[in-house]
Amino acid sequence: MKILTILGARPQFIKAGSVSREIAKYDEIEEVIVHTGQHFDANMSDIFFNEMQIPKPDYNLNINGLSHGAMTGQMLEKIEEVLVKENPDFVMVYGDTNSTLAGALAASKLHIKVAHIEAGLRSFNMRMPEEVNRILTDRISNMLFCPTETAGQNLKNEGYDNFDCKIIKSGDVMQDGAMFYKDLASKPDLDIEDNYILCTIHRAENTDDEKRLKDIFEALDEIAKEKQVILPLHPRTKKIIENLELNIENLTIIEPVGYLEMVWLIDNCDMVMTDSGGLQKEAFFFEKPCITLRDETEWVELVENRFNVLAGASEEKILDLYTNFEFNNNFSIDLYGAGTASVKIIKELLTYE
Ligand code: UDP
Repeated sequence: MKILTILGARPQFIKAGSVSREIAKYDEIEEVIVHTGQHFDANMSDIFFNEMQIPKPDYNLNINGLSHGAMTGQMLEKIEEVLVKENPDFVMVYGDTNSTLAGALAASKLHIKVAHIEAGLRSFNMRMPEEVNRILTDRISNMLFCPTETAGQNLKNEGYDNFDCKIIKSGDVMQDGAMFYKDLASKPDLDIEDNYILCTIHRAENTDDEKRLKDIFEALDEIAKEKQVILPLHPRTKKIIENLELNIENLTIIEPVGYLEMVWLIDNCDMVMTDSGGLQKEAFFFEKPCITLRDETEWVELVENRFNVLAGASEEKILDLYTNFEFNNNFSIDLYGAGTASVKIIKELLTYE
């Protein structure tokens, strides 16, 4: 069996790594990895792949720095060329980026089966480019690997039982990764206090809205007066806040960190505050409470179980939840498959008819 994996962003490489490590156990499966280049990252060098124990891409399409339409269009064209040449049995796509959609669409038009990992997630906010990518990719996928119960239910609600596809609750490959990398975590080289909050901000809904961004930073700075707040800052957010007049002298702002350092920071913090999708789950995997700086989340089960609370971007609400919210600290519930997702995915692919 030949699986062609389409990846474009750093988190996708991290997630796909777990599946690739599983694939490597089977002589009968060949994996070809295509990197679209969507998120060009100077840190994604050989060291990155070696350190993360992730196979290097077989193809690098180098498509980046374009508008959504131009990027998706170019990817479609280039991925089609690769698919015609490689003729895989499955195209595997992850998550909700333009690379995900372009990979699924190119495959679907060539009648190559599509396996979508992280299927069925919905924020119900069609202004998010990710939401559009998710919905369209799901609809043309043959195998839909849902990370959660809710994701499967979303597909049923949209009538997927009537479509020619298979819905599988696989659990979340990100949990597989978190468990794998926990033992490899490395402490970043910086002054870290015993108790600190780990924070990330990069979503367009926050970075592209001056008021939201200002409110968030002011709330974080207030908290940082009494407790260290470590903020590995995304380059996009950095560029934007440089042009805003913010009074933020208490935050520990650092450059983005490598994943093994990030895992250390999550594993050792007291709390996570973020607008990242992935980090909300990682907080749960490492048994940390999480305040989410968004108005909605795809990971509703975290909120329902009070591991996570939505604060939006209001300074008052962030401070109030930080001080008063009663988090659930019993993390024994299995919401994401407890690290068995990759095994399930490969078994399903091998028995697909
Ligand atoms: N991450 C990292 N270094 C950083 C910031 C984030 O390794 O400086 C990791 C983070 O732990 C998570 C992934 O990158 O696994 C999430 O990426 P991001 O927040 O960009 O995307 P999202 O999850 O929102 O799609």
